[in-house]
Amino acid sequence: MPELDHRLSDVYNHRLDTITPSQIRSFSREIQDIPGLVSLNVGEPGFNTPEHVKQAAIDSIANNQSHYSPQNGWLELREAISNYLKNRYQMDYDPEAEVTVTDGATEALSSSFLATINPGDEVLIPMPGYPAYTSLVELAGGVPVGMDTSATEFKLTPKQLEETLATHPDAKELVLNYPTNPTGVSYTKEELEQLAKVVAKHGLLVVDDEIYGELTYDIEHFSFAKLLPENTILINGLSKSHAMTGYRLGYVAGPAAIVTDVNKVHGYLVTSPSNPAQYAAIEALNNGMEDPIPMRKAYRERRDLMTTELRKLGFGVVTPEGAFYIFAKIPAQFKENSREFALRLAREAKVGVTPGSAFGVAGEGYLRLSYAADLDQIEKALAQMKTFIENNQ
Ligand code: PLP
Repeated sequence: MPELDHRLSDVYNHRLDTITPSQIRSFSREIQDIPGLVSLNVGEPGFNTPEHVKQAAIDSIANNQSHYSPQNGWLELREAISNYLKNRYQMDYDPEAEVTVTDGATEALSSSFLATINPGDEVLIPMPGYPAYTSLVELAGGVPVGMDTSATEFKLTPKQLEETLATHPDAKELVLNYPTNPTGVSYTKEELEQLAKVVAKHGLLVVDDEIYGELTYDIEHFSFAKLLPENTILINGLSKSHAMTGYRLGYVAGPAAIVTDVNKVHGYLVTSPSNPAQYAAIEALNNGMEDPIPMRKAYRERRDLMTTELRKLGFGVVTPEGAFYIFAKIPAQFKENSREFALRLAREAKVGVTPGSAFGVAGEGYLRLSYAADLDQIEKALAQMKTFIENNQ
């Protein structure tokens, strides 16, 4: 077949004009064949799914639970989600009307944006940020408005939110994600309370992605949804907490009217979530709330090692409080941009990282390093980076 002319998208769909494929994945593909590469560029938990959770999925297949589930997921799972949110955060969500099970947090985000954005609506997004937010908002016809948080250690402050709203008074939604991909920073209850005051004052709807909530190290994870449940679409799932990225299981919790609309979109996008993944999730939520504890402990140790060593090598590091990423400022002696530097690191030091520019212009000058990799791989990568830096003083 002849090579498809990319500009055909001009003919068929102008919404795709601004959408570029995720640079996290494209950069990863670009460097993956370098022999001996140690990869610190993946957003994949460095653990297997817990055995009892896997078994629940296997049993569901063996028991021929292979039909469509209800569109919004099995009630038993929605009840398990509702109980989790109650026990963990003392929040009340009606499993019948205020929870929908989705194909991962990604589909929860897509369905939420499609259900709530009118053409031209502005959506405020702290940057550097997870690239899907910008693209999904654009696909829904909205206009992403990035807020560069690099001057405030990657945290959105109430002041910056107010200032952005002064120039974008019609902005409709705000995306929050914490612990944050790619920086690992999180927010305390007090910081969220301050942000909530601004959100309430301006009547914003918050799309609140807490997918890394169970992977928080130094502070207690607090849910923004508890502060302003009427303004918040809570996005979560089991991909990171239970090392279940490939199962594709997430959920949305929020006010019934919004969840009904999200569910309407979700039904057309995916019909219903995967059955084995739902049974695995019921098991994880009902009997596996201890599962993230050893993962959290291991990630924390890896974070401490990597933060200390990267600082010694001259990288600027804001200590991450959660997730499994470090967003490190490239030492001043290197003049190339983050993509060029990451390419050199891959070719010369044999260490794979993600250029900060993959997370928006606010990420230029930084690298994202994932510490989901095994400790020996992290140690190897750090040793190779040390030699590289020493050779380039
Ligand atoms: N949100 C953030 C911030 C993420 O980092 C990721 C995955 O890396 C997702 C959502 C996607 O989660 P899921 O695999 O459940 O779709």
